[in-house]
Amino acid sequence: MRIEGIPASPGYAEGPLFDLNRPPASYKAKASMTEEKAALEGAIGKAVGRLASLVETADGDAAGILEFHIAMLEDDALSGPAFASISSGQAADAAWRAALDGEIAGYEASDQDYFRARAADLSDIRDQVLRALSEDGEVAAPPGAILFGEDIAPTRFLETDWSGGGGIALKHGSTASHVAMLARSRGVPMVVGLGASAGPLAGAALLDAEHGGIIFSPSPSEVEAFRQSASSFAERQGAARTFLTEPAATRAGTAVRVQVNIADPSDVDGIDIATCDGVGLMRTEFLFGKTLPDEETQYRAYRKVLEWAGGKPVTIRTVDAGGDKPVPGFTVEETNPFLGLRGIRLSLKRRDIFRVQIRALLRAAIHGNLKVMFPMIATPDEYSQAAALFAQEQAALAARGVAHKLPPLGIMVEVPSVALAPEAFADVAFFSIGSNDLTQYVMAAARDNAAVAHLNSVRQPAVLRLIAAVTAFGRERDIPVSLCGDAGGDPATIPALLETGLRDLSVAPAQLAMAKAAIADVQV
Ligand code: PEP
Ligand code: MG
Repeated sequence: MRIEGIPASPGYAEGPLFDLNRPPASYKAKASMTEEKAALEGAIGKAVGRLASLVETADGDAAGILEFHIAMLEDDALSGPAFASISSGQAADAAWRAALDGEIAGYEASDQDYFRARAADLSDIRDQVLRALSEDGEVAAPPGAILFGEDIAPTRFLETDWSGGGGIALKHGSTASHVAMLARSRGVPMVVGLGASAGPLAGAALLDAEHGGIIFSPSPSEVEAFRQSASSFAERQGAARTFLTEPAATRAGTAVRVQVNIADPSDVDGIDIATCDGVGLMRTEFLFGKTLPDEETQYRAYRKVLEWAGGKPVTIRTVDAGGDKPVPGFTVEETNPFLGLRGIRLSLKRRDIFRVQIRALLRAAIHGNLKVMFPMIATPDEYSQAAALFAQEQAALAARGVAHKLPPLGIMVEVPSVALAPEAFADVAFFSIGSNDLTQYVMAAARDNAAVAHLNSVRQPAVLRLIAAVTAFGRERDIPVSLCGDAGGDPATIPALLETGLRDLSVAPAQLAMAKAAIADVQV
């Protein structure tokens, strides 16, 4: 039986299923309210201690997630209601479970992917404290197992030994979750969105996280076909590594520029600048975490990336908050956030916040080869207003004698109005096609909705035709055109993209080798 899902981290895994949702052992109620409170306090302390010991050996991303969990556990706002319930007679385990389940339900009901993804963090915290209360150790998954369940806790991911293979198959989950991010960076195959009714809880399974699917109790012929796909994937990955250090070129010798997409400045720590042609997209909304970053924080972040890149270009995008990337204190609650106040629309509404980012960019520009682009541009007027703000802030910095430089200003082509009438934008410095959004808007299929994932493909003829038209327009008018959506790093889509005339892609760092290998296989 094969069930389809969404690939969240590519790869293949064959092994026994391991049930992620085994309930913790039962709790023995205490004799008094004071003892119940002490038990909960002790369990929270134990969970914090366990996380703190994990932080010691964790690297950048993982340590950040664990510290976030510690901060939540130490927050009285989370434990307060549980202690109040104990005071009114509940046992520690029931009180803690009820308090956390209420919070989790709130996150799960959100129509925003980011908040739904945080529900897994809270379930993780809930279960760790419940386990500490019942003194139940977590049973480790056997090496090579496919961890299967509703969702997976980040700590569970970090505690699992992946050296013997294995993978993750989730009924729910999200490609935007912390675990998905960790799985991609560690190369652990992961599929999400398999559906609530998916499959048995034990037995052998085959996880295909290249295409997105799982086969339960496979037949010998299914196992054979699976092993062939898995070894072809491993071969492609191995062969791809040899392309990493060479400039990308097609089989016919046509040069293709391949840059990388980054979010956090620390992302560049693991990338050798010699393996790419610069940064095609730095998403800045992730700098806008729980608090809005001040000018100095932003300046340092941009400067770090520019200095790392040496003289190679770094394209930094002004904040694209909204849609599936809410920022507390900045974005607004909307019924349809993908069609609402996001990207440049929000920046032009909140000019106080936008001007801080503009100043940081103008000041950082002296440290390298900076280009700046605006997200979600739909009309020429939005571009003119944003460019005018750059000119105003530049004049203000000059008047104060602050070192700065005005970078070339370009736009994302991700709203169909721009792709259909690019001639209205002939004065921009460059175009960068955002195929993630362009596809969802052309196909009317949300990028975070598994039910319409079959429609959300850049290879749909209507999407490819628009990409070809923008590329041809750029060539005609001498405006550089690149593509920074996820499709640029997808080996299956690269031939079609090069066919449109594109010669400039920006890809996730983990996709760099595979993208270059796929380019080398195209005859254009
Ligand atoms: C895109 O839309 O293709 C893009 C690169 O931007 P984001 O994924 O951040 O919306
Ligand atoms: Mg976009």
